Amino acid sequence: MSAAVAVCAAPASARDLQLGEILCVGGADSARAALELEPQELDCSAVRFAKRDRFVRTHADIAEGFYPTEELLYWQTDPSHFETMLVRFVYEDGTEKLFDVDPQMAARNWFVQTRFSVPVPKLSARLVGVDMVVERARTAQTFQEARLVGRQEAREEHYSKSLLYSLLCGLLLVPIIFGVLSYHWLRFRFIIWHVVMTAGALMFVVSNSGLLFRLLPDAPLGLRFQLNTISLAIATASAVLFVKELIEEGKVPRWLVRTTIGLALFMLVMKTVTVIDLESLRMISQSAFLFSMLPLSLALLALITTALLNNSRVAMYLLFAFSGMILGGIIRLLMGLGLYDPAFHIDNFLYLAMAILVLGTSAAVGDRFVVLRVERDRARVSAIKLGRLAMTDPLTGLGNRRAFESIERVERGQALLVADIDHFKAINDSKGHAVGDAVLRHMASVMRDSFETVSGATIYRLGGEEFAVLFACDDETAMCHAAERLRKAVDRDMPGDSIGLPHATVSVGGAMGRGRDLKQVFSEADQALYAAKQAGRNRSAVSGEDGPDVLANVAKA
Ligand code: GH3
Ligand code: MG
Ligand code: MG
Repeated sequence: MSAAVAVCAAPASARDLQLGEILCVGGADSARAALELEPQELDCSAVRFAKRDRFVRTHADIAEGFYPTEELLYWQTDPSHFETMLVRFVYEDGTEKLFDVDPQMAARNWFVQTRFSVPVPKLSARLVGVDMVVERARTAQTFQEARLVGRQEAREEHYSKSLLYSLLCGLLLVPIIFGVLSYHWLRFRFIIWHVVMTAGALMFVVSNSGLLFRLLPDAPLGLRFQLNTISLAIATASAVLFVKELIEEGKVPRWLVRTTIGLALFMLVMKTVTVIDLESLRMISQSAFLFSMLPLSLALLALITTALLNNSRVAMYLLFAFSGMILGGIIRLLMGLGLYDPAFHIDNFLYLAMAILVLGTSAAVGDRFVVLRVERDRARVSAIKLGRLAMTDPLTGLGNRRAFESIERVERGQALLVADIDHFKAINDSKGHAVGDAVLRHMASVMRDSFETVSGATIYRLGGEEFAVLFACDDETAMCHAAERLRKAVDRDMPGDSIGLPHATVSVGGAMGRGRDLKQVFSEADQALYAAKQAGRNRSAVSGEDGPDVLANVAKA
């Protein structure tokens, strides 16, 4: 063939048989017409594709010495998606071998790392050219990624890449399992988005690498093509929501968050357009989708940077986590614009970036967990403290009326005593309010001492100089003993001379619980107290079957 093509004259030992940049391209209305295009009808000036053509033909001349002649070869390409494909191998003696490839055949002959393979027939004559006609190609990559590769080398690469990508998938599975388990007991929304984002990244690796065809040998080629970008769209959109939820309150302005979410929605709309697969948008919808990622990535970067400037703790982790993806996005863009051609496979860089993303965001999640737990524990402690304060009488440290009223019923085997200081008003009036307060505090300590050894005894100050004790008590006799013990203790210990307090006495009323409402039991005990007061004060009375029964009368000095 004397086609005006640029041919790569690499030495025979070279392994790099990449042909993408040296292909000549032409469009036609049918596969046959495309295959019969004359060499001069092909455009070899640059990698340009007839976007409107249903059938696109490529041709590459293979120079002598381009591959070692003894080697068995594969013709490989990234097919993305197509309707039909013809591959024609042309030999030096004029022999031609034609392969009719359908999408399912491409899926079945998939080599991990974005390629399917057609074995190049080995003839005695040298292979001098390869033609390819693709019907309804979806991306230029189908032509740009075409290459000739030694079969042994291709198989080795297939196995090593399968292992590498499987390991990467395992790595991505860990945060998914961890996230699902931890959401069970820590219901933070960012955990959901982290799981969805990581699942999207995992789906992307499985689909884009072609591991998908290992797991589902009969999966259609078009499924992989759609899954690639759907998973990328899901991962990106949930990454935005993850960042929004994870960054601490007030670290980024609302409008920036809203703009980023708006751009994520726009990206999802672009994705929907590629799913619809309109003929008029074929070859550009995929690029348009990838380009819609650009403003979104910039907004996300702005979001993280703003948070970082506002001393957000998690922003540091996020900047590290997204660094690979942002760099990958820039490289991809420069490649798209034809400004940069990296020496590495961009998809491999993308996988590495995803691993960094997942590791970095997992670290951010872990850090946020710790901070939120500390905050939650602190809030819990102060809630407990507040609750305790609300139930405590500040003067005596005893339970207050609210605490007392929170008791619903007084059980069987429990008794309630109500104690009221006698003539307290007189103490207040003669000695002053401050002394009155000191008497109340002293009274509380005498009551504590008196019930120190009684099981389950709780003492309350109901207000003023009125106290109540709830305690375990089998019968009325025991209740009377307890009431008397208290009354005597006050009479004995409240002369308070040694601490400069006036003498004080109490009257005590009591009632058995018998599993009744507190109100009812209290009312009974109060009636008994009233009876004790009526009987002359410094007395105990308990409510019995026939009304209050005054038990003791201590002669006044
Ligand atoms: P009785 O023997 O009938 O119980 O007579 P009393 O004087 O003890 O009863 P009364 O209900 O007439 O008086 C209670 C007094 O308690 C009235 C009020 O000045 C005083 N008081 C109420 N709360 C406090 C307080 O927190 N501190 C002090 N120092 N006095 C209080
Ligand atoms: Mg009183
Ligand atoms: Mg009173």
